[in-house]
Amino acid sequence: MRDNNNYYFNPSAINRHRKQQAKRDGAIYYLPVDPCHYGHQSPRYVSDGHCVECRRNWHKTGSSSESE
Ligand SMILES: [Zn+2]
Repeated sequence: MRDNNNYYFNPSAINRHRKQQAKRDGAIYYLPVDPCHYGHQSPRYVSDGHCVECRRNWHKTGSSSESE
């Protein structure tokens, strides 16, 4: 039976799992199941867990102290 759906749908556990999987595959991003702190439904960096959309916005509006 599928009674355990609620237990199974544990966002942080799934995120952790996806992140580990992406890391193992050598991927830069992983796709989390829940939106970021600012509500973006976008991939996140495996390296530091930052939201890609947030990172993009920093570059657009933030200071240009970061050189890439
Ligand atoms: Zn974000």
